[in-house]
Amino acid sequence: MDLATCLKKMQLVGVLAFATVDTDGAPQIRNISAIHYEEDAIYFFSARGKNFCRELQQDGRVQILCYTRYKEMIRMSGKAYAVAESEQEKLRDIIFEEQPYLGNVYPGDTRNIGIVFCIDRAEIEYFNLGVNPIFRETYQLGNAGIEEKGYYITDACIGCGTCQSSCPQRCITEGEPFTIQQNHCLHCGSCYENCPVQAIERRG
Ligand code: SF4
Repeated sequence: MDLATCLKKMQLVGVLAFATVDTDGAPQIRNISAIHYEEDAIYFFSARGKNFCRELQQDGRVQILCYTRYKEMIRMSGKAYAVAESEQEKLRDIIFEEQPYLGNVYPGDTRNIGIVFCIDRAEIEYFNLGVNPIFRETYQLGNAGIEEKGYYITDACIGCGTCQSSCPQRCITEGEPFTIQQNHCLHCGSCYENCPVQAIERRG
């Protein structure tokens, strides 16, 4: 798996769930399909009067989720910004050309009510529950950085093997200390709860 394939899969799913934060700090979620994909950014369209648009302009943080028929979850976490005025018309027309239904929603010049936003720095998590063992990997769009998540085993490990037998994915390797195969870890916390000497720590 890689970043380009994740973006392609998002494009194939088509309608994505966009989560934002409103002015009260409450989560808000919408389905969006007016999206144009490039290899280093995604662009999407919203009308200026919508709360969604206001939340993007005021806060910008957005999480985008898609789920494929093969039990793959792809989550993009980043910050959206309105593209430069000089680029708005060009990108808006590209989105309308790629998504012809938009011509019915905003016929003629009424599309001028829209703003095109861009996300070009984001963390993208790929999580496949359809394979055994499960598989996860995280990629960067732009230089967004990657926030490490999940669990790791510290040098306090006594090598008893309790974590291995409690792990539903059998993704802990024997050693000094034992190690978690991060690409196959569910982040379920079973090893953390069962370790008799609290040698397992949670990130974040
Ligand atoms: Fe296994 Fe769950 Fe621990 Fe990951 S968090 S290593 S899946 S027990």
